[in-house]
This record gives sequence, C-alpha cells and structure tokens, in this order.
Amino acid sequence: MFDAKKVLLVKYGEISLRKGNRAHFEHELLDAIRRNIKDINRGNLRVLREQGRFLIEDTNGDIDAAAILPRIRFIFGITGFSHAIKTDCRDIVDLCVIGQRFFSKHCERAGSFKIETKRSDKQYPLTSTEISAAIGDYIWKSGLGLKVDVRTPDIILWVEIRNHVYFYIESDRGEGGLPYGSSGKGVLLLSGGFDSPVAGYLAGRRGVEILPVYFHSPPFVSPRAQEKVNDLARELARFTGRITLCTVNFTEVQLFLRDEIAEEKLTIFLKRAMLRIASMLAEKKKAQCLITGDAIGQVASQTVHSLAAMESATQFPILRPLAAVDKQDIINTAIRIGTYEISARPYEDCCTIFVAKHPENRPHTPTIEKIEARILDRLEPLLIQAFESAKYCEIL
Ligand code: ATP
Ligand code: MG
Repeated sequence: MFDAKKVLLVKYGEISLRKGNRAHFEHELLDAIRRNIKDINRGNLRVLREQGRFLIEDTNGDIDAAAILPRIRFIFGITGFSHAIKTDCRDIVDLCVIGQRFFSKHCERAGSFKIETKRSDKQYPLTSTEISAAIGDYIWKSGLGLKVDVRTPDIILWVEIRNHVYFYIESDRGEGGLPYGSSGKGVLLLSGGFDSPVAGYLAGRRGVEILPVYFHSPPFVSPRAQEKVNDLARELARFTGRITLCTVNFTEVQLFLRDEIAEEKLTIFLKRAMLRIASMLAEKKKAQCLITGDAIGQVASQTVHSLAAMESATQFPILRPLAAVDKQDIINTAIRIGTYEISARPYEDCCTIFVAKHPENRPHTPTIEKIEARILDRLEPLLIQAFESAKYCEIL
C-alpha cells in the first residue's frame, strides 16, 4: 500500500516577484492562514512552507478541506487552493500507480486527458516531460478508456515534484492580490455608501493596510449610520484581519461650513475638511496615502473638476481605486464581498445634509482655495479639535 493522503496546496502569486521582501510576506501569509484556522485546529493541522507553496495537512489523515476553505479563502495574496494528494514516494513506477488510482476517482465524465508536471525539485532524475509521459502512458494503458489530448483535454492531472510529490485535478481560486500590508498604509475615508468599502477592499487587495475613518454628524445623522459603518468595517476585516475604525465627530465643522459657505459650494468644502482631518490621521499613523470611493461622474462632487478642487487640501496622494469603474461593476463587487446589503440600508450620511439640490459641478480651484484661505484660521482649530476627540474602535 502506498502512502498518499489528501492535503490542501495553497498557491500565492505576485510576492514571488518581490525578491527582497519575499521571506517576510511568506511569513505573514503563513501566519494569516494559521490564525484563521486556529479555532478548528486541535493540534492536528499543520501549515508548512513547501517550495513556493504552502501545504496544509492533517497529521491524523485526510484533510477536511470543506472546514478549512471558508476560513482562509479571503486572505489577500492567495491565488488558489489545490485539492491534492501528497505522497512521500518518489520512484516513477510508484508515482504512476498512485497517479492512476487518484485519477481513476475523478475521470468518470472525461473522454480525454493530459498530464502537466511541475518539477520544483531540480534534483529529481527525470524531466517534467518525461514524468508526464510516463504517468500519461501508464494511465492510458490502465483500461480507463481515456485518450490523451494535449491541446483540449477534458481533464488535466497536475503533478508537482517538490519536497513531496503532489497530484491534483481540482483547484479553487483565491482572493488574489498581494499580502495585506505589503504595500504600505492608507487612510480610507469610509462612508456608509456603496463605493468606499469597495475602494477599501481593492486597495487592501493590492497590499495596502487600511485605516478607515468615518465622519459622523450627530444629531443630524442617526446612530444607525455609525452602526452601518461599523458593520462595513467588520466586513472589510474578514479580508484584512483586525481593523481600527476611527470615528470623527464632524458636526461642529459641518455647522461652521454651512454658515460660511454658499450652499452650492458646500460639498467641496466638506470634502476638503474631511481630507484635512484624514491627513492628520495619516500623519499620526505614518500612512503614505488617502483612499476614497470617488468614481468619476457619479455625482456633482465627482466631476474631474470637483476632484481636482479637492486635491490641494492634502499633501498626501489620494488613491481612488474606483475612479474609472462603472457603478454596476462597483455594485457587483460590493455584492461579492458582502458589503452591498449593509450599504443598502437607508440611513443618511453627513454629505447629504445641508447640501444644495444643484451643487456646483465645475468648481474653479483657485476660487475655492481663496475662499478657504479666508476662513482657515477659524476652520483649522475645529478640524484639530475634531481630530483630537476622534474615537477609535478595534474591529475583528
Ligand atoms: P460612497 O458610496 O462611498 O458613500 P458616494 O458615491 O456617496 O460614495 P460621496 O458621498 O461624494 O460619493 O463620497 C465620495 C467619497 O468621499 C466616499 O467614497 C468616501 O471615500 C468619502 N466620504 C464621503 N462621506 C464620508 C463620510 N461621512 N465619512 C468618511 N468618508 C466619506
Ligand atoms: Mg456617500
């Protein structure tokens, strides 16, 4: 009897391109996997590095992939999971037999097949083509009634020669992207809408650690709006791990601007005030950028003229992952990542109070800056006060 058991092979993608940091991010990913399966690990689950892959195995026997996958499929940086069998055998004759047995359980509906071999162990005496040929030939002759088709096979049997040898047919896709935190930090302006959670997800998936900040305006905005943002941050935390949500009481700033600024210009000034406070947070937390859910043309405040008129409120670059994404595509992503239902709850956010029915959609940046300069000595203390009294809430 050959020794072969079911395991999960975890594939990760782009960190292999980043040579300098590779070891660090492999470690981070490994750690994220271990953390996420901690609650079901009775000391039997092992997560190991295996030459450019991770291996999850159960020391008691076959792995229960259905119990593990829901806990780790969200982890940024993982590109896929292969449902593999692992064997310690290395002799090609044994591998043919093991491969054929595994294959025979999965090929009922197939008419043709091919073998693909990856040979990471360069000491192995046969080349990948020779390994594929040997196993393919053995399966072809084994009476399963399948023919070899290297161009459009119904089924592919993957063979990976690493420290151990793995066979698999099925793989599930992972979240992809880069390991969380590997691309620096950004302050995410998180409102209760559809866009900003999706923007946060996309930036997080590219490795940016997310520090969300929410501007709340009680009593004009109900506590339900805060609850909504907390719930959105919790959804994001499924992907990112622990997140600290910063809530800024924006009421004083908002009332001040309402009294000072013409109604049709108010939105721009509110946004600039938010960006200024978000920048204070970015500085304090040593972040390198701000992230918003702005999408060009969605509303008056999101024409390129308006976006341009906001830029000078901050010295930080503003990432807008949704800038050129259509609303329906944003909604589709929101549904997929689980934020849609929460964003759809009907509570106002602070941008919708006091603002004009027809806000200016082509603001002139120098004019905006000139007006702001006139009120800045009174506005700034309010911004600082709002920032200093911000509340921080850890969300898991
Ligand atoms: P969203 O769907 O993210 O709310 P939106 O289409 O409603 O965006 P706006 O309300 O103009 O557009 O907001 C644009 C961006 O400004 C938001 O995506 C978010 O990044 C930021 N923002 C707006 N309101 C707030 C708020 N109360 N707290 C934090 N950020 C905010
Ligand atoms: Mg909004």
